[in-house]
Amino acid sequence: MTPAAYVHLDLAAARHNLIQVKRYAPGNKIMAVIKANAYGHGITRMARVLETADAFAVARVDEGVRLRNAGFKQAITVLQGFVCAEELELLLQHQLDSVVHTPQQIAILQQHTGTNSRLNVWLKMDTGMNRLGFKGHDFAAAYQQLLSCALVQQPINLITHFANADDLLDDKTRRQIEVFTNAIKDFPGECSIANSAGIIGWPHVVSGWVRPGLMLYGCSPFAGKTGSDFGLKPIMSLHSRLIAVKDVAAGESVGYSGLWQCDRPTRLGVISIGYGDGYHRHTKSGAPVLVNGQRVPLIGRVSMDMITVDLNSQPLAAPGDPVTLWGDALPIEEIARYADTIPYTLLCGITQRVRIVEQ
Ligand code: PLP
Repeated sequence: MTPAAYVHLDLAAARHNLIQVKRYAPGNKIMAVIKANAYGHGITRMARVLETADAFAVARVDEGVRLRNAGFKQAITVLQGFVCAEELELLLQHQLDSVVHTPQQIAILQQHTGTNSRLNVWLKMDTGMNRLGFKGHDFAAAYQQLLSCALVQQPINLITHFANADDLLDDKTRRQIEVFTNAIKDFPGECSIANSAGIIGWPHVVSGWVRPGLMLYGCSPFAGKTGSDFGLKPIMSLHSRLIAVKDVAAGESVGYSGLWQCDRPTRLGVISIGYGDGYHRHTKSGAPVLVNGQRVPLIGRVSMDMITVDLNSQPLAAPGDPVTLWGDALPIEEIARYADTIPYTLLCGITQRVRIVEQ
C-alpha cells in the first residue's frame, strides 16, 4: 500500500553533494549549513550524513546545543551568535563558535568574567547585505575591541555574506568581494564568504571556508536551473497517493472558492497532500504532479490536506496509486516557480505529520 504523505530522503545524494562542494571549492574548508532543521531534512540526521564536513553552521544557539547533546564533536558556528550573557554562557558551555555582529555583543563579551574558556569568534563584516555585521571604521574598531577581550580566542576569524550571488549579472557581488578582499589583507584569522551561489557562481572568490547550504540538499541556488545542472542530486522527494477519482461535468467548478472551472468533462483525481503537509498553498493550477510517474496538472486551490489534479490523460488511475509532488523526475525548483517561491521555502516547510523514509 502506498502510504499517505511521506518524504523520501536519499542520503547517498547528500554524500554525493558534499563531494561536489569539494570539487567546486578545492582547497577550501567546508562549513555545512544545517540550520532550520537542515533545511527540513533533520538536523541530527544530516549532521551524521555530512560528518566529513570540516564544521557545521546553524542559525541559533539552541540548534548548536541540540547538536552537542546529540554527541557531535565538530566545530559548530552559530551564525546569529548570542543576544545576552545567558546565551553566551551556553555557547561557552557547549564549545560553540559565535558570529559577532553587534556592539552589544562586544559589550557582553567585555563584561564577562569568571571562566577560563575561550570563545572562537567569527567577526562579521557587512559588505553590502545590510543585515548583520560592521562596516568600515566600525569594523576596524570592533576588531580592536575583540583583540583586547580576554574571552575571545585569537586569531579572530572574519566572515561576510552575499546578498545577490544568485544573480551573476549583478555587480553587487563583485563589489562585496572587493570590499572583503581588501579588508582581510591585514588580518591573520580565517575567512569565509561564499554560500552555495558564491561557490558555484563565483569560483575565484577569496575564502578559506565555504558555507554551502542549499547545494548540499541538491538544489540550484540559481533561478531557471535545477540541481542536476550543477551535478547535484536532490535528497528530498515528496510523495503521497490518490484517494479519490471522479468525473466532473464541463462548467463545474472545483475546490474552495470555485477557483477552477472545468472547460470540458474532466476526470479529477484527489490526492492526499496539502498545505498542512508543506505543499505550498499558492501553487498555481497547471503545476505538474506525477501520478503513476506521469505528469498531470494541478487544478484548483490547494487545501490543507488535499489537492486536485486533472486525470484526463490518465483515465485508468485509481485510488491508492502513487503520486510524487517533487523529486525524481519533478525538480523542486520547477514546483517552487509555480508557487512563486524558492526551493528553500518548500524544503523548510515540510510539517511534522509527514512521515520520513530515509535510505
Ligand atoms: N551563510 C549564511 C550566513 C547563511 O545565512 C546561509 C543561509 O541562509 C548560508 C551561508 C547558506 O546559504 P545557501 O543555502 O544559499 O548555500
